[in-house]
Amino acid sequence: MTSTASKTNLLGMSQDALEQFFVEHGDKPFRARQVLQWIYQREVTDFDDMTDLSKKLRVWLKDAAEVTLPEIQSRHDSSDGTVKWLFESGSGQAVETVFIPEPGRGTLCISSQVGCALDCAFCATGAQGFNRNLTSAEIIGQVWHAIRELPRRDNGDPAVTNIVFMGMGEPLANYRNVVPVLKLLVSDWAYGLSRRRVTISTSGLVPLVDKLGDECNVSLAVSLHAPSDELRDQIVPVNKLHPIASLLEACWAYTAKHSNRFVTFEYVMLRDVNDSLAHADELAKLLLGKPAKVNLIPFNPFPDTRFQRSSADTIMHFQNRLRQRGLVATTRKTRGDDIDAACGQLAGKVSDRVRKPLGQKSMAARKAENERKRMVSV
Ligand code: SAH
Ligand code: SF4
Repeated sequence: MTSTASKTNLLGMSQDALEQFFVEHGDKPFRARQVLQWIYQREVTDFDDMTDLSKKLRVWLKDAAEVTLPEIQSRHDSSDGTVKWLFESGSGQAVETVFIPEPGRGTLCISSQVGCALDCAFCATGAQGFNRNLTSAEIIGQVWHAIRELPRRDNGDPAVTNIVFMGMGEPLANYRNVVPVLKLLVSDWAYGLSRRRVTISTSGLVPLVDKLGDECNVSLAVSLHAPSDELRDQIVPVNKLHPIASLLEACWAYTAKHSNRFVTFEYVMLRDVNDSLAHADELAKLLLGKPAKVNLIPFNPFPDTRFQRSSADTIMHFQNRLRQRGLVATTRKTRGDDIDAACGQLAGKVSDRVRKPLGQKSMAARKAENERKRMVSV
């Protein structure tokens, strides 16, 4: 994304911040609402075309501000209708955005960071390490481009009806830049999505789950993946900082704050690691009677990983066991495999400036990102 240092990029600024911007420059706060509508609802980024602003204001805006979008590096269309975009994120690196069409809805899976520092054992993004946080403009820009590129529904509405933060990165680790995006997604002056149609997925940064509950009211998905601290410590290292009991407490507090319907618990099915009926029983014990749903995710293997996907039978038995114990449990469908295989090498070009040197291992990790199947059914 190229932007001019002296100009303020209005893309990604929340309504509050935009109002402040106009007030500081001696104008009225309601200008913010006008500009939000132009950018997000009418897809206009050139101030000259914002015709309900006075000529004088437009001239000043052109001097002081800009609307600068991230650049699309490439687009890949799957035979099953899934679309993947790679966005330039600097130094030849890319982040992924994936659109998954389903009957009656279209889910956009967006990225919040280039890489991820949390190092979950089964995750290709984690294996690549952390590079940097995306800006608010780079995050909302993924949505802007996807809505513009996809044909609208028969009723004229955008094809994107749901947004999930399940692409690359841990959204709560980039809290400062993610929250303005959440506000724009649900703002009537921008995308106007219902809070139930916007989902933050987190591996469990407990203090930030609490903070999010105070500031926003979107749906919450939590990557649990294990029913005991002993096992979760091994596969989701952040559990050592924020063990399961504290995480669940934060989840129930989150739902209580806004009378949210439930938290979705994601559970990646790893053969002979977390997929026995005893694990299912333990999981049911943790969640029964709580505002919780379980979404089982068949593990997507990648080169050099020590994990394997549980068999379809095992996943079915596990799901049935949870249901018998009284939980709501679903299994995520795999979508878009063909474009991952074809194009993932580009997505994996994330160099790690923090933990791992480039070498054979990170080559494998780069390939791994390609293998990762993107499917969402929250
Ligand atoms: N960092 C956030 C969101 C991005 S990951 C989080 O961890 O929740 C989105 C989901 O994909 C998470 O539930 C994550 O655990 C899961 N995931 C990661 N690697 C996977 C793999 N190889 N196969 C299947 N799911 C995976
Ligand atoms: Fe990061 Fe989420 Fe991957 Fe864990 S699963 S390494 S938190 S992206």
